[in-house]
Amino acid sequence: MEWTSAAGRKLTLQEGDITRVAADAIVNAANAALAGGGGVDGAIHRAGGPGIMRELDEIRAKIGRCATGNAVATGAGKLPAKYVFHAVGPVYRDGGQGEAELLASCYRCCLRMAEEHGVQTISFPAISTGVYGYPLREAAEIALREVRAHLEDAGSGVSHVIFVLFGRQAYETYAEVLRRLTSPAQI
Ligand code: ADP
Repeated sequence: MEWTSAAGRKLTLQEGDITRVAADAIVNAANAALAGGGGVDGAIHRAGGPGIMRELDEIRAKIGRCATGNAVATGAGKLPAKYVFHAVGPVYRDGGQGEAELLASCYRCCLRMAEEHGVQTISFPAISTGVYGYPLREAAEIALREVRAHLEDAGSGVSHVIFVLFGRQAYETYAEVLRRLTSPAQI
């Protein structure tokens, strides 16, 4: 499914494995220790090769942990991309611990980094919706709202954002939310 902004920038939803989709920057759902893990993080390190972790070791030596809601950039190793942006999403507890703002901050931070690195196409997984337990529909609303707002900004150099959703259910949930957000009644 695809949505196009008035200025012709595109937001695409597709089902699949983010390590197989070419983009200038691929976003990873990392943890604060930048230490690697399972889920999409494991897939990115496996497919990208050990160079990504070596770069993260250097970053960790300088800054320690990465704050929740923030992100750091590395090269992309063998992935079909120039950069990986490692974003640290919130662990979902009860929704009353600032989770929504922290998740929104992840998307804003990655989009700001995209602008700083001259990235035109960027792909996102559904940050925090795996092991971190963020309810998928609420996460989709935040992710799609932030990305859409960025693509509607006249100053955006990012021209294409791709959400790569892992599994049919995640795709269908995002598609439903995008349809609702972009229906004429919402504009
Ligand atoms: P978090 O700890 O932020 O919840 P996870 O990696 O556990 O991170 O899950 C985040 C989302 O990424 C989940 O929706 C999960 O289904 C999805 N995911 C897992 N592997 C991949 C992959 N290879 N490509 C895209 N998304 C993936």
